[in-house]
Amino acid sequence: MLFNRRQFFKICAGGMAGTTVATLGLMPNVALAQTRQFKLLKSKETRNNCTYCSVGCGMLLYSRGDGAKNAESSIFHVEGDPDHPVSRGSLCPKGAGVLDYIKSEQRVKYPEYRAPGSDKWQRISWDEAIDRIARLMKEDRDKNFIEKNEQGTTVNRWTTTGWLVTSAASNETGWLAFKVARSLGMLSLETQARVCHGPSVSSLAATYGRGAMTNNWNDIKNANVVIVMGGNAAEAHPVGFKWAIEAKITNGAELIAIDPRFHRTASVADHYVPIRAGSDIAFLLGIINYLITHNEVNYDYLVTHSNASLIIRDDFNFDANSGLFSGYDATTKQYDQTSWAYQKDENGFALRDKTLNHPRCVWNLLKQHVSRYTPEIVNKVTGSPIEGFLHVCRSLASTKTNDRAATFLYALGWTQHSYGTQIIRTAAMIQLILGNIGVMGGGINALRGHSNIQGLTDVGLLSNRLPAYLELPKDSQVSLQQYLDEKTPKPLGPNEVNFWGNYPKFFVSFMKAMYGDKSTIDNNWGFDWLPKWDKTYDVLRFSKMMRDGQANGFICQGFNPLAALPDKNSIREGLSKLKFLVNIDPMPTETAEFWKNHGESNDVDPSKIQTEVFRLPANCFAEENGTIVNSSRLLQWHWAAARPPYEALYDPEIIARIYLRIKELYEEEGGAYHEPINNLTWDYQDPEGPSAEELAKECNGRALADMTDANGNIILKKGQLLSGFSQLKADGTTSSGIWIFCGSWTEQGNLMARRDPSDPSGKGIHAGWAWAWPMNRRVLYNRASADKNGQPWDPKRVLVKWNGSSWDGNDVADFTATLSPSSGAGAFIMNNDGLGGLFCLNRLVDGPFPEHYEPFETPITNNPLHPNQINNPVARAFKEDLARLGDASQFPYVGTTYSITEHFHFWTQHARLAAISQPEQFIELSENLANKKGIKLGDTVKVTSYRGYIKAKAVVTKRLPTLTVDGKEVETIGIPIVWGFTGQTKKGFLVNELTPHLGDANSQTPEYKSFLVNIEKVTTAA
Ligand code: SF4
Repeated sequence: MLFNRRQFFKICAGGMAGTTVATLGLMPNVALAQTRQFKLLKSKETRNNCTYCSVGCGMLLYSRGDGAKNAESSIFHVEGDPDHPVSRGSLCPKGAGVLDYIKSEQRVKYPEYRAPGSDKWQRISWDEAIDRIARLMKEDRDKNFIEKNEQGTTVNRWTTTGWLVTSAASNETGWLAFKVARSLGMLSLETQARVCHGPSVSSLAATYGRGAMTNNWNDIKNANVVIVMGGNAAEAHPVGFKWAIEAKITNGAELIAIDPRFHRTASVADHYVPIRAGSDIAFLLGIINYLITHNEVNYDYLVTHSNASLIIRDDFNFDANSGLFSGYDATTKQYDQTSWAYQKDENGFALRDKTLNHPRCVWNLLKQHVSRYTPEIVNKVTGSPIEGFLHVCRSLASTKTNDRAATFLYALGWTQHSYGTQIIRTAAMIQLILGNIGVMGGGINALRGHSNIQGLTDVGLLSNRLPAYLELPKDSQVSLQQYLDEKTPKPLGPNEVNFWGNYPKFFVSFMKAMYGDKSTIDNNWGFDWLPKWDKTYDVLRFSKMMRDGQANGFICQGFNPLAALPDKNSIREGLSKLKFLVNIDPMPTETAEFWKNHGESNDVDPSKIQTEVFRLPANCFAEENGTIVNSSRLLQWHWAAARPPYEALYDPEIIARIYLRIKELYEEEGGAYHEPINNLTWDYQDPEGPSAEELAKECNGRALADMTDANGNIILKKGQLLSGFSQLKADGTTSSGIWIFCGSWTEQGNLMARRDPSDPSGKGIHAGWAWAWPMNRRVLYNRASADKNGQPWDPKRVLVKWNGSSWDGNDVADFTATLSPSSGAGAFIMNNDGLGGLFCLNRLVDGPFPEHYEPFETPITNNPLHPNQINNPVARAFKEDLARLGDASQFPYVGTTYSITEHFHFWTQHARLAAISQPEQFIELSENLANKKGIKLGDTVKVTSYRGYIKAKAVVTKRLPTLTVDGKEVETIGIPIVWGFTGQTKKGFLVNELTPHLGDANSQTPEYKSFLVNIEKVTTAA
């Protein structure tokens, strides 16, 4: 008996699960007619991790091949790894269907070339592709390389070709791409983090010292209150979300969802509060106001571990009428941050009043700042019902005691705004006030999206970064000494750990990893070889440069900017002006085909586009060794189960071949300054194919001379792998590509490959599973789980404690191991005051406290708090992009984007099972709006913004409530992002036809979550 898809789902919808259908003999009919062989017989099992989201679920890949010399192994089955402490054998729908991705018939099979003006691909050889790409890159570099700026400073930069480095490639691939790009002098070197969790890094680092998820997936089970806001964990991180459910079941936790949509998380929450997209800061500052005015504060923790008691300069202020902090310059649209600072004593140490009485202490300034955010104002700005808001306040307040903790889980719903950094910061401040940072079950948990976007951020693939959160020198830093002086903070208290005080050790060790013996004290470790930046060449700036004809080349490695960057039509315009575009990907992307006519979804005339385009087939996750870092900083080593298929190559092979060919051309012909290209370390066994193992060891680092302890005993011989970053030196005797990864592959072996799932604490601390940066700590800032004497606030939830001579406990102390609490050093060792920052000094460009600003396209055309300053005054907004904004008179509804469980961005459209489960583009709207517009379920609708339109099927739902905001009815249209015009799903529109090309003030992450649209019916459902 045969069924079509519709009939099959009809049967399933009638109450029978797919397996039941099979058992009844309805499909497939042969399978049950005989005894089945054990399907894994004779297979090889390989451990790997899911390539989609950053839960990092364990996967077992089963392949066949008899192991004979020329036999290729082939993956035929994938299932969850039952040993994995986070996923415990589970996989979500897309993870469970990943075999269809690995084996997709759509994989790019061989190198292809699209000539200028052509409407088709032509097959070329690898040699032809590499030769031509190297030639184009060299030509562009030679023509546009800048050795010195106008002031005569050596800057050695190349800005006219950009490189986007993926989100799921291994750290080792990312490190190799970093080395090559920086040796060429590239400044526009970016990764997916720029468009997703950039604000997590800027906000959490500004508050706590590091820009990463504070706790970990398993630890969520220890929470008493779980707040999911700015994300939809049940949908986007389904397997990680099981730990929130575990908290409910075993810990009696309350789960609260706050979102514009009653989504899948809300459907299993104890409490749901609707909120207008983009108004989160008002809601969160309202919570702080509630906690202060109701005295719901953990004062012991606040005074011990936050900067509440430190005194701020007299000239700092916030003007509630203008909506601006002191120091604003309307001409440059920037703040002078001089006044955002502590008052200091004669030793340069910050003044402090532990009684919190001083009128200029942070606590009193904060009280004054948030006093405007009453429940009534919160309701007016957000549309959230007052009672719902107060319920959240009361639940959170219940965790101010030492025996209770709340955790926040968030994702792109918080990051993708023109003030995304400050949303996250507001929540981070709430957690300091309640004493919920550094403790079990607490934290601000940034749920990263892509499988290795945490790792690739750690690798430093952002235009102005070096690995492990070092900064690339600016062109105003004219010497190594000036650079190191400016980047090495001085302690703000007498005994602070001030870990960034080690900056020179990290920097010099990094330079030794890049340039080996060529990097010496006499040439300032090769300081001049690094490109110096004059401004950030983030993706928004680079896309503007493309549009303006200031960019010529673009390498897109596992990245699909036509789909991923905002305002698709402006991105397409930019790509059309390039000389060349190189795509390195396992799958055909929309970017690679931007020049091709795909009907209404991409209506272009190829003959008018002169860009040369290359499409190079790369490996996918299942075909490589290496590490990826999940959301909770866990470096998990994975192994290849098969070779890349067809003519595909490993990413490192592709990068190596391009680099080596360029180097060869420079040797043959000379050209623009190429000393850094020649000097780059490249001592790999196979120069054309550096192995993941070699690269991982380079990231960890080695002793470059015999290393001795205080008594002169040799602890490491020259060439041996370092045990941790405390061994790094600034004298050139150590190397380490990525200092926070130092300790991951030591003389003991590859600690990232460890597979011991045991948890002696019973609290979700699986210290023997893989390796977490830094130094295998599982909860960041865990020193703050103890009081000023080093004793745990809660004896039932011990992370670390002082035993009289050192720190011990269930976790590795995030503190100097033998530093006594009596030293008075603060728990937040990356901050030079040792404290969690309620006031964040000069680390953010848009204010030391958060403030509510409206999205650039706002449905209420006003900022109820200060009508004269509607938007973030220092957001990333180019003049021509401000001219491409709509207003509520033409576009009255709020558009907001999101993903769905069954798909992963623009990848799974190539996986058959995922394409079957969600085959066609849809949008969601409320019943109220649908009635007004005469739209019914299944109608085709057109959603239009100032910048473009999409057409999709309408889903009319109760999930999107109509809200009253500032006296006005506000409707939200929900727009999933997962379809495009390539793949096995029905051809759809890229959603960024609609989104505005502007971004967050601190991280330049685009504002995808709140913009204005209109909607109309196109055709009625059949
Ligand atoms: S997509 Fe995320 S939750 Fe789903 S299987 Fe993969 S890692 Fe796990």
